[in-house]
Amino acid sequence: MSIVPEAERPNPYSAYGAHGSVLVLNSGSSSLKYQLVNPVGGEAIAAGTIERIGEPSGIVTHTFAGNRTRRELEVPDHGEALRLALGMFDEIGPRLADAGIYAVGHRVVHGGAEFSGPVVVDDDVVERIDALVPLAPLHNPANVQGIRVARELLSDVPHVAVFDTAFFSALPAEAYTYAIDRKVAQEHDVRRYGFHGTSHQYVAGKVARVLGRRVQDLHTIVLHLGNGASASAVAGGVPIDTSMGLTPLEGLVMGTRSGDIDPAVVFHLARNAGMGIDELDTLLNKRSGMLGLSGVNDFRELRRLIDDGDEDASLAFDVYVHRLKKYVGAYAALLGRVDVVAFTAGVGENDVAVRAAVCEGLEGMGIAVDPERNTAAADGERIISPDWTSTLVMVIPTMEELAIARQCVEAVEHLRPSSSVTAG
Ligand code: AMP
Repeated sequence: MSIVPEAERPNPYSAYGAHGSVLVLNSGSSSLKYQLVNPVGGEAIAAGTIERIGEPSGIVTHTFAGNRTRRELEVPDHGEALRLALGMFDEIGPRLADAGIYAVGHRVVHGGAEFSGPVVVDDDVVERIDALVPLAPLHNPANVQGIRVARELLSDVPHVAVFDTAFFSALPAEAYTYAIDRKVAQEHDVRRYGFHGTSHQYVAGKVARVLGRRVQDLHTIVLHLGNGASASAVAGGVPIDTSMGLTPLEGLVMGTRSGDIDPAVVFHLARNAGMGIDELDTLLNKRSGMLGLSGVNDFRELRRLIDDGDEDASLAFDVYVHRLKKYVGAYAALLGRVDVVAFTAGVGENDVAVRAAVCEGLEGMGIAVDPERNTAAADGERIISPDWTSTLVMVIPTMEELAIARQCVEAVEHLRPSSSVTAG
């Protein structure tokens, strides 16, 4: 199977015609990332980040037409951050009035069992996202704040919430149910939700378009390996399992998160190390994973350490790959047949050694990486398996902002009222 040239691929979004651009906002606890996207052509017109919100010296960067502007100044809160971002568009360009904003898209981390697709934001939707804060105390508060401020400052365009969990609302019950007391689970909404859904959905769809196949005909394992990392098994465009759970902590080894551990580790440390809940939360979310094992969470630095003979770094790499392989094997068993293994996100798109190591020894399953194709200097979507395998191994750059922008267009086109959102 080969890649269909870009010019020959159908672009399902061109049917929407010219809409102007979509401003995609991603509000984190101390940062705001934004991108102005053309949802039809797919290009990022301008992009920026505002970091260290609430600290004495914030950092603002804005990139437009190949020029990057960087400033250091105090950014007290998200309201000021968004005002600064809008000011950058006025000052450096493009002027938003000229770009014709069609909608503002908000990345929201947790949609609970309630939101199974993008939704046009009204007051009720904001309240419902706010009500999900107990499920995502680290993420949803910033998302809600970002939506509130943006609706005030950009009041004459529709705002759309796009949820990281939405794609996985289609998971079957046997995949999302934890084997704990049913009553406790139901009372406290304890189940698996999955995250990075926008990326998994985009990559699974892109694989099909790139190969000139229908997504309904493909069984794909998507490995989203960024600073956060997750895997999914997608059968015919529908996810049947994913590695993240109630929160993004479950599953693969990540930059700073442990991924799967025996939950009794928490009881053990609480009883024997006197650690409190917040300390344990920080330990597993921020001080574990590659950082906890090797002292660094960036794979470029990890490679330097490994090359210098650092044994902790080598072990961290091996632990990371071991966990990934287990998920590939598990998802192959669930899917029954694997047409494509797709690597994406910062590590998946760039780290040659990770891709080679994950697929090493899987020839018996029809999965292998061709060393030349894997190491070739390239940055687009590509096949890196040899011609003889039954499974294609591919690299598919993820474009979460574009995927969010396109979901915004779909939501506004269909003007999905919040009441039409189905329970997942
Ligand atoms: P993301 O969360 O998708 O932005 O991925 C960020 C992570 O990707 C970084 O922390 C690095 O570990 C990894 N990364 C980025 N660029 C490279 C590269 N050229 N080689 C290896 N890893 C990379």
